[in-house]
Amino acid sequence: MREIYDVVVIGGGPGGYTAALYCVRAGLKTVLLEKLSAGGQMALSTQIDNYPGFEEGIDGFTLAEKMQAQAERFGAKTELADVFGADLTGPVKTVHTSEGDFQGRSVVLAAGAFPRKLGVPEEDALIGRGVSYCAACDGMFFKGKTVAVVGGGDTAAMDALVLSRICEKVYLIHRRDTLRATKVYHEPLMKAENVEFIWNSEVTELLHGDKLTGLRIHNKKTGKGSVLPVDGVFVSVGRVPASELFKGVLETDASGYIVADESTRTNIPGVFAVGDIRTKAVRQVVTAAADGAVAAHYAEEYLAEHR
Ligand code: NAP
Repeated sequence: MREIYDVVVIGGGPGGYTAALYCVRAGLKTVLLEKLSAGGQMALSTQIDNYPGFEEGIDGFTLAEKMQAQAERFGAKTELADVFGADLTGPVKTVHTSEGDFQGRSVVLAAGAFPRKLGVPEEDALIGRGVSYCAACDGMFFKGKTVAVVGGGDTAAMDALVLSRICEKVYLIHRRDTLRATKVYHEPLMKAENVEFIWNSEVTELLHGDKLTGLRIHNKKTGKGSVLPVDGVFVSVGRVPASELFKGVLETDASGYIVADESTRTNIPGVFAVGDIRTKAVRQVVTAAADGAVAAHYAEEYLAEHR
């Protein structure tokens, strides 16, 4: 068995690395468990313009590397490990991973969220054959081609803009007739000559041979169906919190977000939830980072009371 850490952080996004940074600077022995590489969803963003301190913006991957390096400079340890379970009750908590068990007197959950699926038949089978959840990752595979983006939020708007610079034609399919996306995206989207909006519509079927060839669309207002030939579809319909592993142990809301207020404390003493995995109004890099600092504060307080 390894040493018992003061803090085990699960997830290496902005919330996780900020928690790790503040914990080690408070003298707490901290390990951060990350499945792939630093950054989480942030690392997939080509341009982040609303994280303070980078006046020209910064790409998410670089920002993630910087956050990791900063936390490690003060002694945070990163372990590449896939978490598949945890015993969170009791004074020493055990996190089960692909690389064995990690134990900590407190745990910060910062596992984030993953893309929500459309929920149409054969969606999984067509991933990598025309269905994608990340324009920044897969956009270049559709250079000069026709694609659709589904969704009306910031991610869909950003994806449509990124793709409009790479693809011949971009359809933006939204289930309502107004975008949820922040106003800053509206004008450039309306101005982009190769972006066409398809309002009040839902994708009901993925048409394909070996690869995706088109979408069957249902217009909710007219009740009419149509076929839209496309080479790719980018699904940007929101996110689902990565809280499945903790269901039944930690309190979650109806959408699966771990219930925690601004203090980041969950219903289990010594367990904190930060960033996109917790109940909150604004899910941004800057609010995830803020959560990390707050969690470190309350972890420190908890550990001082439970020595
Ligand atoms: P979101 O804000 O939850 O938007 C999801 C969109 O998908 C909504 O327009 C929703 O429609 C639609 N939708 C949901 N389920 C659907 C379904 N089954 N079929 C069709 N459409 C469906 O998600 P997001 O855009 O991924 O953004 C998540 C968070 O990250 C937000 O807080 C956002 O501000 C933030 N974000 C920020 C930036 C940035 O600041 N640079 C970039 C990306 C994301 P309705 O509108 O009808 O509900």
